Amino acid sequence: MAQPLAKPLDDRDGFIWLDGKMVPWREAKIHVLTHALHYATQVFEGERAYNGRIFKSKEHSERLIKSAGLIYLPMPYSFEVLEDAKKEVLKANKLDNAYMRAMVWRGSESLGVDFSQTKPHMMIAAWDWGRYFSPEIRDTGIALKTSKWRKPAPDTAPIHSKSSCLYNLSCIVKHESMQAGYTDGLMHDFEGYIAESTGSNFFAVKDGVLITPVADRFLNGITRQTVLQIAHDLGVKTEERRVRPEELPSFEEIFVTGSAAEVTAVGKIDSLEYKVGPVTKRLRQAYEDLVNGAAPAAKAANS
Ligand code: PMP
Repeated sequence: MAQPLAKPLDDRDGFIWLDGKMVPWREAKIHVLTHALHYATQVFEGERAYNGRIFKSKEHSERLIKSAGLIYLPMPYSFEVLEDAKKEVLKANKLDNAYMRAMVWRGSESLGVDFSQTKPHMMIAAWDWGRYFSPEIRDTGIALKTSKWRKPAPDTAPIHSKSSCLYNLSCIVKHESMQAGYTDGLMHDFEGYIAESTGSNFFAVKDGVLITPVADRFLNGITRQTVLQIAHDLGVKTEERRVRPEELPSFEEIFVTGSAAEVTAVGKIDSLEYKVGPVTKRLRQAYEDLVNGAAPAAKAANS
């Protein structure tokens, strides 16, 4: 379960970068007739800084720009401005370890599904945010409930854009899973294969091989790509393929990945139970070493 926030997000000290200026936190506001609020004409990034360094910052900035393009949202600022502004936000808020949101959205210049008269806006905020899931799950893993909801097919939604238009479904699935006593939901794709969780990608281990669904029908997470690279560097065999739900009982370990979730072990899916196994632990450690700027993954995991 996500940790409750100590203070509401609109009532904090600090600064938020908004449309080219660093503004006091509580003054970073938008109007109720903002287009994005009505039609989800918005894209965003969730990233983390460790020891003062934004992990995979360029990749996140590039994805934000790509996400915007996929929904015809013009970027109001360049890649370079975005990169600089992210660093400025950390500095202005005196943060070394932080979760960061960058967002681009359509403003309140007009309303209706014709968005042509609206202007794009951009903001960046960062705050101290520890673990996405509560710390005690490190040893037990989270519990996932298979959702009745499926990820939309690639021709029914802009699935490769990290846009809020896709996240209403994630919120519904998360809510239903938590109501049923689970930590999070596991979603199938439009053909019934395992896709991902509400905000993280899915990995399984079988006979020492790391298996993950092909990311052609959901977000190809930056953490997912990083973990696949780490596994490759460590000599762990990897397979990107369709994963059938009937395979779940044969898996030895399961974990999920995301910038917020990092590498999080799964202890349960519906009535099936899993141990936090050696491959998960090894990859989790290597990921943590990498984001913290420690020794390269291969070295760190061998030591
Ligand atoms: N899938 C979904 C639906 C997500 O929201 C996220 C988090 N952004 C991910 C996967 C993982 O992506 P990343 O590793 O780039 O954070």
